[in-house]
Amino acid sequence: MSYPTTQLLINNRWVESGASRYGDVLNPATGRCIGRVAHAETKDLDAALAAAQHGFNSWRSTPAVNRASMMHAAAALLRERTESIARLLTLEQGKPLAESITELAAAAEIIDWFASEGSRVYGRIVPPRSETGQQLVLKEPVGPVAAFTPWNFPVSQIVRKLSAALATGCSFLCKAPEETPASPAALMQCFVDSGLPPGVVGLVFGDPESISRYLIASPIVRKVTFTGSTPVGKQLASLAGLHMKRATMELGGHAPVIIAQDADVELAAKVCANAKFRNAGQVCISPTRFLVHRDLERGFVEAFIRHTRQIKMGDGLEQGTTMGPLANPRRVVAMTRLVADAVEKGAKVLVGGAPVGISGNFFSPTVLTGVSLDAHVFNEEPFGPVAAIRAFDCLDEAVAEANRLPFGLAGYAFTSSIKNLHLLAQRMEVGMLWVNQPAVAGPEMPFGGVKDSGYGSEGGPEALEAYLNSKSVAVLAN
Ligand code: NAD
Repeated sequence: MSYPTTQLLINNRWVESGASRYGDVLNPATGRCIGRVAHAETKDLDAALAAAQHGFNSWRSTPAVNRASMMHAAAALLRERTESIARLLTLEQGKPLAESITELAAAAEIIDWFASEGSRVYGRIVPPRSETGQQLVLKEPVGPVAAFTPWNFPVSQIVRKLSAALATGCSFLCKAPEETPASPAALMQCFVDSGLPPGVVGLVFGDPESISRYLIASPIVRKVTFTGSTPVGKQLASLAGLHMKRATMELGGHAPVIIAQDADVELAAKVCANAKFRNAGQVCISPTRFLVHRDLERGFVEAFIRHTRQIKMGDGLEQGTTMGPLANPRRVVAMTRLVADAVEKGAKVLVGGAPVGISGNFFSPTVLTGVSLDAHVFNEEPFGPVAAIRAFDCLDEAVAEANRLPFGLAGYAFTSSIKNLHLLAQRMEVGMLWVNQPAVAGPEMPFGGVKDSGYGSEGGPEALEAYLNSKSVAVLAN
């Protein structure tokens, strides 16, 4: 299948970078170069910023119902083009084709939901302080947005930000991942084709550090939004603070899974194994620290291993593949290091534990048991196909371990008792908790973390608030 050269999107036109600079795009399943992506220089960023300002001026005054209908049209185009975009996504990112198709379906649903929700941004009328007065709260778009998005869900990570921004009347300039540029470009084309005025959406690539520094400092940009690792998020949040920009930070996690003594072990093992190896573990809400009551440990581990052995690792475009390669070689290095360290500190490798093959970034689905609390895998986000399991004796101990790390993004629990359910819901320090079920991150629910996992939400009405200013207007008739 052919793979395009990806250019920069400025003013609804695809343009070369000013200096004709390009980077290579590699297929993670083979390690081979499949294409190129334009790298922006300062002149290109200036043009993209001017376009975003121009786009904002027209988009903010476009009626919300018209904005909604263009967004619905873009979602329809994304659905229509799913087959070709999903193939690009798998080629550049590695996930199985079925997962790419699911990502695009979820993205279209997010766009539709925000399009409709944008028509319900109402403001308020507040009781006045005099008979002839009126007090109004007007909701206004914050302004042009600079977004920085990662490679693990190249389309849906953009869509969560883009949809909320467009629905509220903001323009949107995105620096998407250089590793996976073609599917974001195809997504943006759906918006261009749906009739958006020039400059409402823009797309650039290049050196992440210098682009983020330049865009965040620009007086045109009024809001910064980032998804990625906690260290980079802290850098970008401090830049946003320095330049007094609103910010949303969706950062790393290290999701605890508490399997209480009264849990349904078979259900827990099935849900956990499926979730753990989805996108080869490169998911910010992936379950990562499995805390199992000691009475259930054996049954849970056996069932988890049974499910793990059913995984078929391979090229994501091959039929039957259920887990693809890691997105880049540095993830394979990281997995190898995490497993070696855990073993050195007493863990047992029950399945997998090593890179596979001589080409591509394949690392086998791995199950570790008896993992000590000081093992790196229990302290830094693995972001790969390694499940680390550990037993506990009482629920208080499990909750303390769940809350021990500075992260607080997703959490999971399995229990059949209402008492435990309420206790865990109240005490787990996470932004999202799923009980007796896999993660369902529908657009109608808040999506985001606490502590070092960031701030702000990318779902529910809260996500729209993040792109709105509240203007207080008091009027006295004379
Ligand atoms: P990384 O921290 O180098 O990069 C993460 C993402 O941030 C990449 O898309 C990268 O292009 C971007 N980035 C890096 N520096 C930037 C900067 N100064 N300005 C703007 N963007 C910048 O890590 P990596 O090796 O690419 O990924 C591994 C780690 O990243 C994982 O361990 C995980 O914690 C995190 N990550 C998280 C998510 C998520 O969904 N929250 C997604 C991808 C990566």
